[in-house]
Amino acid sequence: MTRDFTCIVCPNGCEITVEYEGKNVLSVTGNLCKRGEAYVKQELTDPRRTIASSVAVEGGVLPLASVRLTAPVPKEKIFDVMEEIKKIRLQAPVKAGTVLAADILGLGSDLIVTKTVKAR
Ligand code: SF4
Repeated sequence: MTRDFTCIVCPNGCEITVEYEGKNVLSVTGNLCKRGEAYVKQELTDPRRTIASSVAVEGGVLPLASVRLTAPVPKEKIFDVMEEIKKIRLQAPVKAGTVLAADILGLGSDLIVTKTVKAR
């Protein structure tokens, strides 16, 4: 079988074609560098995504604080992680870098605050 990918590792956006059987990669063409090959192999065997979102802040100068994961998680777990993020309510002040959920859902990634929100 073959499958086409657009590499998202860098702005070149190479169109990569992978020939494979099951999870065995037979050939990779169209990539300008090895990172593209690693990307499509990961996509075929264990696709992962990161999340950047925001959570509500009470009593702050802003109503939301931006958050992100420190490492990508399996693509099929994105919905579950978003559900966990939606449950979080913060009280100002909130400091950038604060870990809101260590090893979220046991996926080996932390949810951290990326924007400081001062109290009103
Ligand atoms: S294959 Fe390499 S050069 Fe092409 S988009 Fe991916 S990382 Fe960039």
